[in-house]
Amino acid sequence: MKSTQRILSANPGKNPLMRSIGFGFTVALSVSYLKYSQVMASKRKSEGKSEDDKVSAKKPAPFWKTGLLSAMHDPDLQVYKDDKVIIIKDKYPKAKFHFLVMPKDNIPNLKSLKKENIELLKHMHEKGKETAEKSDPDLQFRLGYHAVPSMSHLHLHVISQDFDSPCLKNKKHWNSFTTEYFVDSEDIIKELEKNSKVIKDVSHSQELLKKNLRCHVCRKEMTTMPALKTHIKQHSYKKS
Ligand code: AMP
Ligand code: ZN
Repeated sequence: MKSTQRILSANPGKNPLMRSIGFGFTVALSVSYLKYSQVMASKRKSEGKSEDDKVSAKKPAPFWKTGLLSAMHDPDLQVYKDDKVIIIKDKYPKAKFHFLVMPKDNIPNLKSLKKENIELLKHMHEKGKETAEKSDPDLQFRLGYHAVPSMSHLHLHVISQDFDSPCLKNKKHWNSFTTEYFVDSEDIIKELEKNSKVIKDVSHSQELLKKNLRCHVCRKEMTTMPALKTHIKQHSYKKS
């Protein structure tokens, strides 16, 4: 018998080489098992969380997203307030008249709406309509929400349909107010009454912002923002 065969066939308990091979094998097995159980535990933990939990656990909202919370208390922007709502002038108006109606209650967005908010939404709509009437009773306005708002805290846009403003600069601005990305306030109220919640498809909404530029009155397609802005001046936005 060769010397290596003799060593390996000897009693492992008494053989130092076999003892160290056995010890190494046991350590490797224990480390792998420990790693496996850590991976499984973190997987189980993440599966137990909702999507919202996962998002909020990642990072807080950037500070600019909460700008409306301070803007709503800015006396230079406020045009109306009562026990339920505050109305402010939009700081970067996309038309001759552009207001934001906000609830005093903490309602972050459309997704957080519940059936018990229906009366509040109706009140926001009524007060928004009154503000439009007071600004210019002859001008056409739309009242609605962006399907995917950029700013936190629920806000109803009240916007005149002239879109005559230097702040209206790009395709995203235009499409956010003239495609289905802009959802009429009355449709949001109906959806909440019917389904007890409001759900908007984020990826579909984001595609709407990329659509070709079109006049919101005659639907003519325009190639550039300056051409569109010149074109829309020819229409009348008076109530008929
Ligand atoms: P949305 O895309 O629906 O979240 O629109 C947010 C609106 O808030 C835009 O029309 C902005 O021009 C407006 N806005 C952004 N920051 C402020 C601010 N600090 N004060 C007033 N309006 C603001
Ligand atoms: Zn047109």
